[in-house]
Amino acid sequence: MLESRMKKEKTMLAYKVVMVGDFGVGKTSLVKRFVDNSFSEEYLSTIGVSISKKAINDSTLMLWDIEGHTEFKPIFKQYLSGAKGFIVVADINRQNTIESIQRHIELCHSSVKNAPICIALNKSDIHHTLDENDMQKLKELSEFVVEVYKTSAKEGSAVADIFNELDEHISKSIKK
Ligand code: GDP
Ligand code: MG
Repeated sequence: MLESRMKKEKTMLAYKVVMVGDFGVGKTSLVKRFVDNSFSEEYLSTIGVSISKKAINDSTLMLWDIEGHTEFKPIFKQYLSGAKGFIVVADINRQNTIESIQRHIELCHSSVKNAPICIALNKSDIHHTLDENDMQKLKELSEFVVEVYKTSAKEGSAVADIFNELDEHISKSIKK
């Protein structure tokens, strides 16, 4: 009993995290910054899905990065299924992408109930007017929103933090 518990504690967790958000908000760029510590100004739209692996703490994150327009296709639900957590991304300077956050949260939860979500308000290196109050409102969109961050895939700010926060949350709930 004790032996099997110790074994369990040593095991690395590997789980799926899905990047969700409107087209062009920086989903692919956030994954690139986090996984390779790189950034490109080039606009390469992701076709279908790409899966990147990254180990942090005691976990291996399998990051599913989905093309922006895929949500309208029937296959979208399969992309979401089995995820342990989601990063919902918006462009801090494009209000319509922030307004989409709620719909993205609903989509995530229509596939996986109760999965924790971190919200990334990306491109925070560009001048913006979004304040703490707006962030608090986003946090209140769902009880499963763990945290809201202003991120910059370009400069790297808060990129590791957001994945770490989600991992801490997921690891705790899985090990319980
Ligand atoms: P996706 O469609 O959500 O995967 O978005 P991409 O990652 O392809 O990014 C779309 C565009 O925004 C690209 O031209 C990126 O270089 C740019 N971009 C992404 N993240 C940032 C950021 O944090 N700051 C700035 N200034 N540009 C960014
Ligand atoms: Mg992309």
